[in-house]
Formats: sequence, structure tokens, C-alpha cells
Amino acid sequence: MTTNYDALLEKVYELHDLEKAVAVLAWDKETNMPKAGTKARIQQITTLRRLHHQKFTSEEFGGLIEAAAVELAEAGYDSNEASLIRLLRYTYDRARKLPPELVKRSSETSGAAYTAWLEAREANDFVGFAPHLEKIVALNREMAELYGYEDELYDPLLDKFERGMKTADVRAIFNAVKEELIPLRAAVAERAEAVDDSFLHQPYDVAKQKEMARVLATAVGYDFSRGHLGTAVHPFSTSFSRDDARITTRWNPDFINAALFATLHEAGHAMYEQGTAPDLARTPLARGTSSGIHESQSRMMENVVGRSRGFWQAHFGELQAAFPAQLGDVNAEQFYRAVNKSQPSYIRVEADELTYNFHIILRFDLEQALLNGDLAVADLPAAWNEKMAELLGVTPPDDLQGCLQDIHWTSPTFGYFPTYALGNLYAAQFWETAVAQNSQIEEAMAQGDPAPLVEWLRENVHGYGRKFTPAELVQRATGQPLSHEPFIRYATAKFSEIYDL
Ligand code: ZN
Repeated sequence: MTTNYDALLEKVYELHDLEKAVAVLAWDKETNMPKAGTKARIQQITTLRRLHHQKFTSEEFGGLIEAAAVELAEAGYDSNEASLIRLLRYTYDRARKLPPELVKRSSETSGAAYTAWLEAREANDFVGFAPHLEKIVALNREMAELYGYEDELYDPLLDKFERGMKTADVRAIFNAVKEELIPLRAAVAERAEAVDDSFLHQPYDVAKQKEMARVLATAVGYDFSRGHLGTAVHPFSTSFSRDDARITTRWNPDFINAALFATLHEAGHAMYEQGTAPDLARTPLARGTSSGIHESQSRMMENVVGRSRGFWQAHFGELQAAFPAQLGDVNAEQFYRAVNKSQPSYIRVEADELTYNFHIILRFDLEQALLNGDLAVADLPAAWNEKMAELLGVTPPDDLQGCLQDIHWTSPTFGYFPTYALGNLYAAQFWETAVAQNSQIEEAMAQGDPAPLVEWLRENVHGYGRKFTPAELVQRATGQPLSHEPFIRYATAKFSEIYDL
């Protein structure tokens, strides 16, 4: 007998396939496609997205969700069925709150803002970008009003990326991070000379970088039989199913770090998708639950594993053998310290593990001020520089290294930035719980083997896919709500030791 749930699933599979077809087209666009193909490719993607949106937001689909919900009223909260219905109700409601006119206008405004941003960067001209940013701020506001909120205008925007989390919660956590980490950051800055990383900045053969990237991604547990490593200017990961989760990275001929750490970062994202339970396949449950939790998995592989002493004691020999001229005189300990060098910088994407969170706190504060009307766009450069001085102790020499550096504000995606820092905090909390539950995890990591840690993550994070909200997942996995404290403990121990504080 065909049930209402079966009928719903049939539609869910169809929607999923459309969405993944878009993902394949987008992946190809960023990795293989000749530039001349751009126009046609954007048309193809736009058509498929429109089809998906029409089907997804139709009355018919809403009816299927509700019919299945009635049938499954008794299904347990943890069941795949109940979890899928909860998620579909949430995404369906939100998608229907934005009128098609707004979606179209948003995409046009973003396209124009992106072009203006590129030009403004070329000329270091914030004033030229400002009118576009004003429109983007207005769009964020309009969307927040349409989604609706109880406490703060920023809440429904944050909710899109970190479902269920409130602005006030993030603010409290970030304030605590700020209070605890500014003194540590300042103490490290005073001892900047204690760590030499000059040998990372020299010519490194790109073909050998590619080999090492594969070796290291495999070492952390990325499954190449269900994956693929490609090249992209801005590294990203994408998945078409749990059995095809791809990563990309970039190759810098004069600096080894991107090949190593951008690769491990993206591998962490893709391992999350590879680890989702097979029985969630072809549904929206078969993916990471939120941007912040996703980022926790990438940071775990990039930093907690990839920048650990044990990992480099195990793998430095291979790297040294690949680059004898560059690393012949360096030992594993020096390499470990070099890849953990911490110093305040202007550019977020170049920031180290310790100072990165300050770049995010700055953007979180400024987004709210812009959204609430407390800060005029014209005053953004000054406000940016003031916050940089407060949080990082440095002032950017120009807007290129200040408020013009990120692509994010060329589209209405306020609420996304905080998830980067939340990822660091979630990662530390997962790590602390994992090693407390299983002493083997830390022992293996000291030998450079993250396999027992990955197993813990599979069981407590990856396998659930998107069944639970981030708060539910963290509570289940660690027995606690999200806290800043594990990250403070982790960062304090690590950097005090490296900088001999
Ligand atoms: Zn990431």
C-alpha cells in the first residue's frame, strides 16, 4: 500500500535530484568550465533553480508534507520520518515567506553589487561600493521582516544558517570569547619572534604540493573512492551524494600552507557528508545540519588534527622528503610551531586559529549595527578600523585590507559570518568530549592517527545528518549546550605552550 509518506518521499527525491544537478553544474563552473561558458551555465542553473523553487513552494508539496505528518503523528522524535517532516515544514515555511519578486530582485541586486565590489577593489574605492551595500542592507532588513522575529531583527537571518540559535546567545558567547582571548592574543603578540615561519614562504613545486595534499587528506580519513580533489581559486567542497563528496583547493607556488590546510579544511567538510547515514540518502537530511556545525568539522581536520604536534611528527618526514631543498634543515617540531604562528593580521582568510575569531566578532557586531540602523554605510570604514584596533590591536592601511575584503556583503547573507567562529567553538567542545569519553582518541592523535576521533565524529555528529538542530546535536553529543570554555581551554593550552607564556 502506498502511504502518504511514500508519496512525499517520491517528491523529496525529485527535488533532491534537481538540487544536486544544480550542484554538479556549479562545481563544474568553478573547476573545469571554460570562462566563455559562463553565460549559458548561469542560464542553466537559473532554470533548474526556478523549477526546484516552484515545485518546493507549491501548495501541492505543502499538502504532501501535512498529509504525511498526520499519518506519522506517532513517529518518535528521533526517527528519520519525524525528523524529515520537521525539517521540511521549517524550510517550506521559510521559502514561502519570500515572494518571487523579492527573490528575483535580490539576485539582480546581488549581481550588480558583486560587479561594483570587484571594481571598488580594483580602485580601492569604498564610496563606489557604498550605494550597493546600502541596497544589500535594505534587502537583509526586508527579508528579516518577512521571515518574522520575536526578539531581534538579526534573529531570522542567523536562523537561516544556525537554526534555532538566537542573536543574544551568540552575543553572550562572543563577549566571553573576547574577554578571555584578548589578553592571550596580546601576550602572544609580545612574543611574536618566538616562532619562525619563514621557510613556509618559499617556492614549492605545485605538482608535489598536489601529491602531498592527497596524502594528507587520506591521512585524516577523507575517502577518495567516494571523493575527488580539484582546483579552485576559492577552495570549497560540495557533495552530490554521500558517495560523491568533492573537495577543491588552491595551489600557491610560493607558500605551502594553502595546499596543506585549505585541503584539510575542505576534507573535513566533505567527510561530514560522506559520514551521513546511508538511510538518509536522497533527502535533505543527508547533509550537515548547519553552517556552524559544518565548519566545526572542517576546523577539526584543519586545526585540531592538522595543526597538532602528533600529526606533524607522523607526517613531516613525508613532506620533508617531497621538499628536501625547502625543508631539509627543518624538523617536525619547528614545522609544528611554524604552522601555528599567531599574529594579528588585516585579512580574515589569512588569520590563524587564535586571531580568527576576532575577525568574525567584528563582522557580527557591524552586521547588526548596519541592520538595526545604528551604523550608516558611509561610516562603515571608520567603524571597521576602530573595531580592528580594539580587537586585534592593528589598523588596516586602506579599505582593501579592511571593509572591502570579503565577498559576503555583495549578497543578503547577514547571519552567515558568525557561523565561522561558532565552528571553532563547536569543534573544541566535540574534541574535549571525545577525548574524555575515549582515552584511545588522544593516544592515537599523539601518534598522528585521527581514526578513533573520526569514528567518534561519525557516531555522534556525521551519522545524524540534518536530523537535529545544532543545539540538539551539541547537547546529545557533549551533554552540554554550546559553551566558549572548551575553546578557551584548548587555545590557552596550545598557545601558552608554543609561545612559552
Ligand atoms: Zn569551511
